[in-house]
Amino acid sequence: KVRVRFAPSPTGGLHLGGVRTVLFNYLFAKKNNGTFVLRIEDTDQTRYVPGAEEYIVDCLKWCGLIPDESPLHGGEYAPYRQSERKPLYREYAEKLVMHGYAYYAFDTPEELEQKRSTIPNFQYGMAYRNEMRNSLSLSQHEVDALLDAGTPHVIRIKMPEDETISFNDMIRGHVSFDTNTIDDKVLLKADGMPTYHLAVVVDDYLMKMSHAFRGEEWLPSAPVHLLLWEYLGWKEHMPQWAHLPLILKPDGHGKLSKRDGARLGFPVYAMNWTDAKTGDLTEGFREIGFLPEAFLNLLAMLGWNDGTDQEIFTLDELIEKFSMDRISKAGAKFDFEKAKWYNAEWIKKLAPERLTAEIKPVLTAKGIEVANDAYLTAVIELIKDRIVLLNDAYEHAWYFFKQPKEYDLASVKPKWNEAKSDLFDAFINHLNQSSTFDAATLEADFKALLTEKGLKPGDAMLPLRIMLVGGKFGPHVFDIAALLGKEEAIKRIENGLK
Ligand code: GLU
Repeated sequence: KVRVRFAPSPTGGLHLGGVRTVLFNYLFAKKNNGTFVLRIEDTDQTRYVPGAEEYIVDCLKWCGLIPDESPLHGGEYAPYRQSERKPLYREYAEKLVMHGYAYYAFDTPEELEQKRSTIPNFQYGMAYRNEMRNSLSLSQHEVDALLDAGTPHVIRIKMPEDETISFNDMIRGHVSFDTNTIDDKVLLKADGMPTYHLAVVVDDYLMKMSHAFRGEEWLPSAPVHLLLWEYLGWKEHMPQWAHLPLILKPDGHGKLSKRDGARLGFPVYAMNWTDAKTGDLTEGFREIGFLPEAFLNLLAMLGWNDGTDQEIFTLDELIEKFSMDRISKAGAKFDFEKAKWYNAEWIKKLAPERLTAEIKPVLTAKGIEVANDAYLTAVIELIKDRIVLLNDAYEHAWYFFKQPKEYDLASVKPKWNEAKSDLFDAFINHLNQSSTFDAATLEADFKALLTEKGLKPGDAMLPLRIMLVGGKFGPHVFDIAALLGKEEAIKRIENGLK
């Protein structure tokens, strides 16, 4: 039975890479009739950001990637918040000590700091171990005495010497590590909280995870986790690992950072706190006008393709086509221009009701009152090819709701003459009498009048447009007139002639 998890730490906003991890977990689960679990890894109280968990849950909701089990939905393996599972980890840490795979370490933060500043490369591997394993030379009796006296301590894993640890990653294939380069990671902290390393292994085991997909930045931790699976006697239950490629800058050099695509890069949503990593980001993909459909689509293509040239996929299509063996090992380049392209394509493709619901608040926020959704839908049909981000909708739609205040007179004035005034007077007359008001009829009638007055289309089409919308922009002019409706179109032409 496929069971996968997204296991974020509530330490800040959810960014591109995080949501892509969610998406790949989700696709894999759905593809295999599996279960997708959200587990909140909040054991590091110093990095905890209030509100971050709700934020993560909201982001997943916006994306439509709803977990089957989570702190919110509950499930068979609850609780799904590690801080609420605190009492159960100590037992495993102590079991490891009992079997000689871990040890009590009585070093204080001050001591550690002092060593760090005096011993070169102290934090890595052997140097660390040689210095820190003092308690291993104590007798059981001495250790017990220290524990009984309530001496502050942590429990550390005892890394084996001169061993190679290897495993098969679903994406990277055979991966191996030299144990001498890995330090004795803390498993249980002085306050009794497990560290990420212990908690992730215990919970992946207890929650019966079959696969674990996570960002490549976790690859260096994999050997610690592998050893823990082995030492705890759970090796045959270990999930299959997949470390997802990093997301890189558009030029392929280095990890994506806040400076790429300026502020546009990072979070899904605006955060209402200041994120230490990304700065004070008050907008995210949602706020700048991305559709969730487009956002998911572009994330899926960061490191995956279906082997064809197809680039636009619905979530259902992604579920159907997704396969792990088409995830590339190489980092995926994030290009903001390409991201916008996905959004524009999705705006063209989206069901009219959905698009109307997305665009309405954009216009309302700019002071436009949308009294009639059907009218807005018709407006959107005319302009949607021009919208890249939802927030662009205002500049393309406002004149369907408000009369122009200014006219681009410079474009028409020099060539204005009596004949043209005549033509428009006649057009107004004609419109007042006509009973049909569709774009094709309007165009035919206008052109007939032009011929009658001895004018060419080039003489009067631009003035007509400027009277209707104020400037040289917008879709087909007779489509605009037809949608504005008879009364409004006449009013605008009259205003324009004043
Ligand atoms: N808590 C880790 C994080 O914040 C999870 C890594 C994992 O999936 O093992 O990304």
